[in-house]
Amino acid sequence: MMIAEIIVNSSAQELNRIFDYKVPEGYEIGKNIDIGYRVLVSFANYKSLEIGYIIGFKETSEFKCKTISKVCDRSFDEKKFELAKWMAKRYFCNLSDTLKLLVPPGTSNNIDKIKIKYERWARLSKEYKDVVNNHNIENSNYKIKSPKQQRIIDFLLENDEIPTSILFDVTDTNSTVLKALIERGICEDFQLEALRNPFLTKHIKKTSKLELTQKQKSVLDEIKLNEFSEYLLYGVTGSGKTEIYLQLIEKVIEQGKTAIVLVPEISLTPQITDRFLGRFGRVIAILHSKLSNGERFDEWRRIQNGEAKIVIGARSALFAPMKNIGIIIIDEEHDSSYKSETTPKYDARDVAREIAKSYNSVLLLGSATPDVRTYYKAKNTDAIKLLELDERISSFGLPDVQIVDLRNELANGNKTVFSNLLYNEIKKNLENKEQIILFLNRRGYSTFIMCRDCGYVVKCDNCDVSMTYHITKNKLMCHYCGAEKKPVSICPQCGSQNIRYFGTGTQKIEAQINKVFPEASVIRMDVDTTSTKNAHEIILNKFRDEKIDILLGTQMITKGHDFSNVTLVGVLAADSSINIGDYRAQERTFQLLTQVAGRSGRGDKKGRAIIQTYMPDEFSIITAQKQDYLKFYNQEIKIREKLNYPPFCDIMIAVVIGKKEAEVIDDANKIFDIFKNHFEVFAPMPAPISKINDNYRWRVLMKAKIDESKIDVINYCLADFDSQKSKDTKLSFDINPNNMS
Ligand code: ADP
Ligand code: ZN
Ligand code: ZN
Repeated sequence: MMIAEIIVNSSAQELNRIFDYKVPEGYEIGKNIDIGYRVLVSFANYKSLEIGYIIGFKETSEFKCKTISKVCDRSFDEKKFELAKWMAKRYFCNLSDTLKLLVPPGTSNNIDKIKIKYERWARLSKEYKDVVNNHNIENSNYKIKSPKQQRIIDFLLENDEIPTSILFDVTDTNSTVLKALIERGICEDFQLEALRNPFLTKHIKKTSKLELTQKQKSVLDEIKLNEFSEYLLYGVTGSGKTEIYLQLIEKVIEQGKTAIVLVPEISLTPQITDRFLGRFGRVIAILHSKLSNGERFDEWRRIQNGEAKIVIGARSALFAPMKNIGIIIIDEEHDSSYKSETTPKYDARDVAREIAKSYNSVLLLGSATPDVRTYYKAKNTDAIKLLELDERISSFGLPDVQIVDLRNELANGNKTVFSNLLYNEIKKNLENKEQIILFLNRRGYSTFIMCRDCGYVVKCDNCDVSMTYHITKNKLMCHYCGAEKKPVSICPQCGSQNIRYFGTGTQKIEAQINKVFPEASVIRMDVDTTSTKNAHEIILNKFRDEKIDILLGTQMITKGHDFSNVTLVGVLAADSSINIGDYRAQERTFQLLTQVAGRSGRGDKKGRAIIQTYMPDEFSIITAQKQDYLKFYNQEIKIREKLNYPPFCDIMIAVVIGKKEAEVIDDANKIFDIFKNHFEVFAPMPAPISKINDNYRWRVLMKAKIDESKIDVINYCLADFDSQKSKDTKLSFDINPNNMS
């Protein structure tokens, strides 16, 4: 007899371990059952069957175990399983957390069921959903007695719509059960084309291979396929990086291999996918969070059955069921979206490296403003090979950037958000019918205090970072060492009382534009206007096709876009990213400004950019004006070395969260005591956001250079803490998180 070890695909705490089940008759390992097979299993107290994954086999079990109810298809192979194990250890989480990444969220992946052109899908009726949303189920005539019917309902509540063949498989039901639900008005069914195509509505222009420039050619020649190696392609904005990606992928596909391309954000996806689709057609699959479950499922299926050979997507596209991966490309590798902030808290670049190694393939990172850590590694070690493109393809070169000192504007009585220079340049563009991008850098809760006359910002005496205002305490705090200061009402530098708490919104700016430039058309792009599906794409297409004069937006307008008629970019206030209380503040400012300026003058006209700032002397702003990454890097890396920040060490952050502050503090002290034997640990302090939803949050910050052996030590310390901690607190642990909150 054979026993299978199974991990259940559930977030329920009590299911979060390995279970033993008997392998049913007629199954043979390596033939029709193996590691990575999806199964359905039953639990004593559970109504429905649970989805699980086989992670191992053994001869006997010390438990009296049940038999697997149903063996489905294979969800992941041995390589992916190894990856999941590596990630669980590397990112300090459960194997079930990392296994979840290997299957499309909310769906299973049964690939062999559907060959017909049309298939039947099921979903809940609107009436039923309304009743559920109003919590009226008990009083309604929708009460369910049959467990099979209940399983279908539970599944549809989570997955909105799904092909019925899969629904029956996953819930172990059949069409009779569904029919009963349809007759009662709870469910409805409908027909859909077997593979829904997320690009169906689009008209894609076919493009062909461009003749590479000499510089592009030498970069392409340096990249050796078919062996593991990592490259950093540092190339200024518009230098032709994407064309290199396209031609590399073409080579990889010719060899019968596959490619993964990661792009930072959804805002980037339409433009870059169009370019890839235009070149490669339907061998491309796209995966990002705005796809419906159905679309995502189909894309997953097309990858699994080998129809899709190129995947483009956000970081989770790394886990698509690709076989024979020849190259992984990470575009705009410095982008913060490559770091997951939820469990598993992985960095896509590290995971990509692990995958590339296991396939003997290439990892190519590309950016005009590389992460300081990546550039350091490329410059100083053999681990990453550095490739460079230092010129734009366009003969007009990089845009001219001017800096406006906002302190003078205020002194001259200009209280609007537009400096004289920016005002005049916007006017010029409106007259010439050339387009404008206006960028407002607004960052969440991080309020900072600044003198409007001299630009003075309160900084921590120990850490050289600006202090963050905490409204609940009415104090300024340093997010690194915990130092506190009273907020100032008189500027210690110039004596002015013109002290301001910063934080402006795009909505306010839009109203100002309408007032100051009544003749201009404006379109706004920020989290508020992009919550619906395809909103990014619709806004960007409108801006391009309807020749809207001004695109106003936050971070999401800074990346990747290639609008040939944009010749002016305005940054309304470059300072809010300098004062985010983070050691990466200068780096992020430089990246943001360089990227946003890089949106200007990409067509057949020279571009300009104007950066308005209260801090014209900050080196991130001066170097961004010249778009001089190397100058920025050389200065930044000295500061990092002096203060012992990454890449010279890694920063670990442990946050203890709980309802009772005494317990939280107690546990934070335990963390401190356990880790201090191995690492440089700073004393526990309240987290920058010290309370969320009545939960207190205390933070312990540590510094260490992380390598494989340190990972072992950390896992050991965390297990030690786990055995001592209060059962009512939670621990969040992360290395080099995106923000320090
Ligand atoms: P990046 O990815 O570095 O921002 P792109 O690949 O988007 O740069 O190239 C910038 C512009 O130059 C694009 O419009 C692209 O079509 C064009 N381009 C790139 N390579 C060539 C080439 N070899 N010949 C002509 N045009 C090119
Ligand atoms: Zn001042
Ligand atoms: Zn400090």
